[in-house]
Amino acid sequence: MASETTQKLKDIDRRCVWHPFTQMRDWADDDAPIIDRAHRCRLIDTDGNEYLDGISSLWVNVHGHRHPVIDAAVRGQLDRVAHSTLLGLGNVPSIELAERLLDHAPEGLSRVFYSDSGSTAVEVAIKIAFAYFRHTGSPERNVFVRFEGSYHGDTLGSVSVGGIDLFHELYRPLLFEAPVADYPHCYRCKYELHPDTCGLACLQSLDRILAEHRGRVAAVIIEPLIQGASGMRVAPQGFLREVADRAREAGALLVCDEVATGFGRTGKMFACQHEDVSPDLMALAKGISAGYLPLAATLATELIYEAFLGAHTDNKTFFHGHTYTGNPLACAAALAGLQVFEAESVLEKLTPKIELFENLLDGFRHHPSVGDVRHKGLMAGIELVADAATGRPFDPDLRVGVKVTRKARSLGAILRPLGDVMVLMPPLSIEQEELRQLMSIADKALGEVEGQYV
Ligand code: PMP
Repeated sequence: MASETTQKLKDIDRRCVWHPFTQMRDWADDDAPIIDRAHRCRLIDTDGNEYLDGISSLWVNVHGHRHPVIDAAVRGQLDRVAHSTLLGLGNVPSIELAERLLDHAPEGLSRVFYSDSGSTAVEVAIKIAFAYFRHTGSPERNVFVRFEGSYHGDTLGSVSVGGIDLFHELYRPLLFEAPVADYPHCYRCKYELHPDTCGLACLQSLDRILAEHRGRVAAVIIEPLIQGASGMRVAPQGFLREVADRAREAGALLVCDEVATGFGRTGKMFACQHEDVSPDLMALAKGISAGYLPLAATLATELIYEAFLGAHTDNKTFFHGHTYTGNPLACAAALAGLQVFEAESVLEKLTPKIELFENLLDGFRHHPSVGDVRHKGLMAGIELVADAATGRPFDPDLRVGVKVTRKARSLGAILRPLGDVMVLMPPLSIEQEELRQLMSIADKALGEVEGQYV
């Protein structure tokens, strides 16, 4: 039973709050907990119930909640200044963070443009790429190539380069057109090929688009190695490298959206480093502030940056900037987050955790409703299907993914599915024992729910 305080809060929530990506008509039935506090990898609700944070509070938390180093950095910054603008002024943490970010970034990236969400980081990348070709005398380069199944955020520019019909199609009349290339979806390969022998056949659609729009492509925008929101679709080794090479050959910029994959999530600081790819523009958000405060950055090469230099009257200034751009509190959290990466050897310590994660994920393959298990680093999707032999999906009305999530919640773990793909994405700081607990809860929840349907 919820306490009186909790009940009051729930009533107000139902009356006043419009939740994102949520059918509000069903919201009250969900009876979701109200989070009051957290500790390391656990969230605690207003009634004191604890839950393992199995999705890193929507893919953002890196070092656990209330990490003493990050808490102290934010508190310390509060004693100096909470916010001051980057329009016409500098501030200490944004300067220090820019330098540290570039130390970690793939080679060639040398400038940091701050904003406040993954969507804005991508929006900024699109506008920079577009303006870059205007400023360098190639205005005909205005085509953006997107990938089927991609997700880059919810603002109109980032939706224009998105490829998930459920989220994006309604808004198509408001969007700019962008040709769509195939992204590998090996579990449901439309060419009916096997990843070991396909020779990356899905690249052919990119080749066709680049040929059709020869000399007019401004940028190819990609989620490197793994598409998150479309259901954790892992691309085979080499796909990103091939895309990068093709973009270069076509004279287009490569934009890597590392919003979900950045900051250690895939086992390296950035996913594109697995394939030695250096993008021209890189979008960062989520884990950048270790999951503490809204912060994003778009990193650019010097060549791109220089194209915006000129006399005032040339109008090459990048006329873009959000009120909270480079917010000192968020930058202080991000700086501390990077310090923790080093002080606690976070990336080095990931290897055994990733191995354990993979082993535990393997155990899910025995479930009759598990069609596919996909993962990279500490990022995984388990696709639930009505018939594992044929891959036939569940009737979406059954909402099997949601039911598993609710069951997991009652057993002490917070998950959030993507359709019928169970997402598992714990903070990098999760201890092996907690990881076992999390996976055991997910396993039990799945077992109980699937029993009703398969
Ligand atoms: N790009 C990718 C790859 C993402 O996964 C997301 C969010 N899930 C975004 C962009 C958008 O980020 P935000 O929600 O912070 O706007």
